[in-house]
Amino acid sequence: MEKILISACLVGDKVKYNGQSNYNPKIKELLEKYELVPFCPEVEGGLPTPRTPNERVKDKVLTEDGRDVTKPFEKGADLAYNICMYLGIKIAVLKALSPSCGSNEIYDGTFTHTKKKGDGVTAELLKKKGIKVYTENEIDELLK
Ligand code: SF4
Repeated sequence: MEKILISACLVGDKVKYNGQSNYNPKIKELLEKYELVPFCPEVEGGLPTPRTPNERVKDKVLTEDGRDVTKPFEKGADLAYNICMYLGIKIAVLKALSPSCGSNEIYDGTFTHTKKKGDGVTAELLKKKGIKVYTENEIDELLK
């Protein structure tokens, strides 16, 4: 079975900034076709749960109260890539809009729920390394 790296919050892990999950029922269908490898870059990068919301601001990641958390975000991205390399993973399903996991669209750094074009830190690195990144809204493409 092909393996997929998946945002841990999508499979029900309570690792989201507010201590909740983003469980998505489509996961059950994915499990029939793929082996899922759950991973949360922010937690693995060393951030606590719950944690202050973060957004990408230019080349940094800042908390809503202005602390620079770029380093743990980069560490989480590196670890995500290491797992992909180690397990031969070529596909990732990552949570839309997250400053780590978002793909093609993320919040704009103003903490006003305004979106902009761009990738989260982990999604950006995985794409650069040739891993195909989907959001949970694109899972149907993997079920064809
Ligand atoms: S960093 Fe990714 S996996 Fe972790 S809670 Fe945020 S969206 Fe989910």
